Amino acid sequence: MIMRIQLCCTLFFILFHLSFRANDTYRYSVNLTTVTNDKLQVTLFTPDLTEQQITFCFPSMVPGTYSVYDFGRFISNLKAFDKNGQPLATTQSDVNTYNITNATQLAKITYDVDDTWDTSSKDNIVFEPGGTNIESNKVFGINTHGFFGYFKNHLRQKFELEFTKPEGFYPSTGLSNIKIQTQKDVITAPNYFDLVDSPILYCQPDTITIEVANTKVLVSAYSPNKKISAAFIASTLKQLLFAQRDYLGGELPVDKYAFLFSFIDKPSLSGATGALEHSYSSFYVLYEMPDTAVLRQTLRDVCAHEFFHIVTPLTIHSKEIGEFDFNKPMMSKHLWLYEGMTEYAAHHAQAKAGLIEIDAFFNVMIEKYQNSLTQYNDTMSFTYMSKNVLNPKIYPQYGNVYEKGALISLCLDVLLRHYSQGNYGTQQLMKDLAKKYGKEKAFNDDDLFTDIEKLTYPEIGVFLKKHVEGNTPLPLGDVLKLVGINLEREHKEMRFTLGGMDVGFNDNTKRLVFLNVSKCDAFGKQFKFKEGDELYKINGTLVEIEQVQNIFANYYKSIKEGDEIWYEVYRPKRKGKYKLKKLNGFAKKVEVVEKNLISLVKGIDEQQKQTLNAWIGYHL
Ligand SMILES: [Zn+2]
Repeated sequence: MIMRIQLCCTLFFILFHLSFRANDTYRYSVNLTTVTNDKLQVTLFTPDLTEQQITFCFPSMVPGTYSVYDFGRFISNLKAFDKNGQPLATTQSDVNTYNITNATQLAKITYDVDDTWDTSSKDNIVFEPGGTNIESNKVFGINTHGFFGYFKNHLRQKFELEFTKPEGFYPSTGLSNIKIQTQKDVITAPNYFDLVDSPILYCQPDTITIEVANTKVLVSAYSPNKKISAAFIASTLKQLLFAQRDYLGGELPVDKYAFLFSFIDKPSLSGATGALEHSYSSFYVLYEMPDTAVLRQTLRDVCAHEFFHIVTPLTIHSKEIGEFDFNKPMMSKHLWLYEGMTEYAAHHAQAKAGLIEIDAFFNVMIEKYQNSLTQYNDTMSFTYMSKNVLNPKIYPQYGNVYEKGALISLCLDVLLRHYSQGNYGTQQLMKDLAKKYGKEKAFNDDDLFTDIEKLTYPEIGVFLKKHVEGNTPLPLGDVLKLVGINLEREHKEMRFTLGGMDVGFNDNTKRLVFLNVSKCDAFGKQFKFKEGDELYKINGTLVEIEQVQNIFANYYKSIKEGDEIWYEVYRPKRKGKYKLKKLNGFAKKVEVVEKNLISLVKGIDEQQKQTLNAWIGYHL
């Protein structure tokens, strides 16, 4: 009895002693009010180290980007100091890595961070949603991996970030442990993985919190010209999130989530816009478009995609992702699952919930099919591409994860519905995989297809091995037949056309512009169009952009073979002047070839109807 008390006391004493003495927290400090040359100075009060030599690193890559960005490129002027403020010897072994000697004496590191959004280096531009943005007194896009480094083998220690901020600024983030004060905020992350998983948007707040079932959803927006508000975004996303909840079986898998939007009013350095996913948040960089239906649908599509990443790779992933190495990243074979399935589910969930028309869903999928055939190598094994995506020769195929990757998932979903008499699809498969694996339990890359086959049907194993691992193109036509849809790879028809050239739009003159006139068909050739001709009238009817669809529809209806046709075009001359030209020819049908048209098969049978209905909720 006495022994036990003594033991307890000793243990208590040791614990007390340890917690009192050991400093194992990274304490970072950044003053957002002092931006110098577009840079911020970062100070790190280091945790106690027992190594004589220590390596301090910035990530070369972060999860979700599938690109090596070398964030150390944006760090300069790094210095290390001991407890007396004396400098310690520091050498840089590569762009991301610093070696510090006498590390047991190390107390402080300081360095400057340049942002990635407007860096002068045009090499290897960081995709903005994964980058950093410093705009004094306006906005700070703090993707934490671009600001904060770590000591090698010390990634599991606590990180405390103290920000001195401009008046009224607020940090929006998916992290929970935040202390907000008037001039300083302190944000804590339990380890480096969670820190990197949590971007921070610092600006004058425009935020709104909505409740979706069991989940608190924060929407935070920085809109430079105040064109887009958090309230507008929240109203757009609410229905979508309910649809996603239903898609996932009635509950969202997180109790809180943050959508962070940093809108831009000029082109991004990378030329791209988009978003990057995290476990409890996603960070968006999109153009500040006026409130239109296009913006609403863009928001829905991109947010649905990022939010569904909660399922994969954030819950279901292989060891390469689960034990992510920030400096020597290993790629997984299964980008079709992480990006393709996510992209497919983003559209499929909207179609199933009736947020988009079935036709719109098919248009998106067929466009993906076209893109996968015309812009990428259709006979490259998808698992090979994925595993080797960091190889510069393979990297150009990466974009196919959003095209063919989504179609692999579509095929898998329809096949599962077919073999299960409608009872089982990719929604259930993802649930079963999440149960089998999980956030903390990664799968082996090589086992995934076998595991899926065990959960489903031998035919599914054959499909995955032949069309995802193998190099046989997807059997999209055969798969769509199972839901009563006919895919016509090439459709030829004689019909009237405008002339076969490409058509653009001149925003100044508000007129359609004829481009690539060398492509004109036999009808178009008669008019001898010149490159840049701007369409004014057709058969005497003024072609107004707002009415363009009706005007052409009426025109096609009104003409017959051999009729005289008049085009009036403004032909560009020097110094921005135009000359009006009246050109004539005769109506003539030409052969038009269209690719990948879909239609319902005639005499669709009961099984096809059942699979179609189970797959997408469409009743015939
Ligand atoms: Zn994605």
